[in-house]
Amino acid sequence: MSATWDQIVERLRELSDLVAAIKLMHWDQATMMPPAGGAARARAQATLQATAHARFVDPEMGALIDGLSEESLSNEQEANLRLLRREYDKAVRVPQELVRELAEVSGRAYQAWTEARPAADFSVLEPHMVRLLELKKREAEALGYEKEPYDALLDQYEPGMTTAEVESMFQGLLRGLKPLVDEVLDNVGDPPGWLGDRYDPDRQMAFCQWLVSQLNFDVSEGRLDISPHPFTIHIGPGDVRQTTRPDPDNLMMSVYAAVHETGHALYEQGLPREWADLPIGSPPSLGMHESQSRLWENQVARSRPFTDFLLPQLKERFPEEIGMVSPDEFYRGVNHPQRTLIRVTADELTYNLHVSFRFELELALFRGELSVPDLPGAWDDMMSEHLGLRPDSVADGVLQDMHWSTGSFGYFPTYTLGTIYSAVLFAQATAQLPGLKAELRSGVTDSLLDWLRENVHSLGYQHDAKDLIERVGGGPITPEPLLDYLRAKYSELYPSA
Ligand code: ZN
Repeated sequence: MSATWDQIVERLRELSDLVAAIKLMHWDQATMMPPAGGAARARAQATLQATAHARFVDPEMGALIDGLSEESLSNEQEANLRLLRREYDKAVRVPQELVRELAEVSGRAYQAWTEARPAADFSVLEPHMVRLLELKKREAEALGYEKEPYDALLDQYEPGMTTAEVESMFQGLLRGLKPLVDEVLDNVGDPPGWLGDRYDPDRQMAFCQWLVSQLNFDVSEGRLDISPHPFTIHIGPGDVRQTTRPDPDNLMMSVYAAVHETGHALYEQGLPREWADLPIGSPPSLGMHESQSRLWENQVARSRPFTDFLLPQLKERFPEEIGMVSPDEFYRGVNHPQRTLIRVTADELTYNLHVSFRFELELALFRGELSVPDLPGAWDDMMSEHLGLRPDSVADGVLQDMHWSTGSFGYFPTYTLGTIYSAVLFAQATAQLPGLKAELRSGVTDSLLDWLRENVHSLGYQHDAKDLIERVGGGPITPEPLLDYLRAKYSELYPSA
């Protein structure tokens, strides 16, 4: 090992430690912190973030990276160097001034969003969004791109994927999905009553604790807690935390949120420990991360074999509420699709319709085809075109998600990319694991997890997500595996008359 390499590793360890402190502050804020601590916490986090950024863009770091390029390297060092170079170049291209202004303006915009949504008043957010959009366009120019500014933003969340590729994937998906959604929703009645009964939140939480362990989440190296918005965070090796939200009127929401987050958490627990502080020790993209959560939530936990395992377990804990529900009713109930206004509670079938028009809208904003003041109206038109519903209030329309107020443009498509990846992965796993269905029926997921560990988790960031999925899937990524899966599942669940 060279002296230059050792110095780089030492610096990366220090950065990891700073980031671990930031993450722990974030987890604490979302789960435990008294709300009055918010302002001081925001300042402490900003200080640590600025320190970490300054340490990373330090010219000495650049000199070390240049120095390493001259040396003969192992494959692993080579892979790290490539990622490090990419990250460093991006970080130094954006002027400090712009980084600071973006942090300030998005902080104010987010604050405005928290006021605008309950007041159902877009004008509270509008001036902040206008400013934020200008700054994000400048950021895209600074970062550089091949074809259009949106490429630069997308690359921050899904490295290696271009706007044109995502656009064509969405088009292919919509072509297949829209007729399927129309056909299925014609045959769906009302959701069953038991879904909306009252379920004691403490018993829900106890059930979720049991379930995440059953799915092999290692509780000796992690925790499950409660937060209003479920999330997973990797503080450091041996410390992966996830949350869910028990809602007294919606048992299955907390259960499926816990399974979703377990998918993220299993990925984090399966990353190569020996590369913990290095770029190749992390997941390659948000889409890749989301592929894991969606696979466990939908393909596994909403499958017929697994719901057959889940129901008796729930009946044991909620005999009064759910004792009379049959396996058929349960399976249909947890897969009940409907047109709704809200993305985060949308079902598996309609979810990607919500995402696709957000992508179209943000793309139009960055292509200069849409202005911020026209955004609420354009949103309502899109909602009506894609889901056949028109929101009565901007609170259920353009203001429902916080992403844009935090400047996270280019983030939304990763939800759908993740869903597309998950279908490719699950189709391969099913083909290679002939006993999988029988295992799922008895609640055993060990061989599936081993398969994911081998094909995805243990690889860390040796490949961009796109390359990894193409390797596993044996060809270019298309939405077809997802469409095949949805067609097979929903035509069996809701056959047309
Ligand atoms: Zn997720």
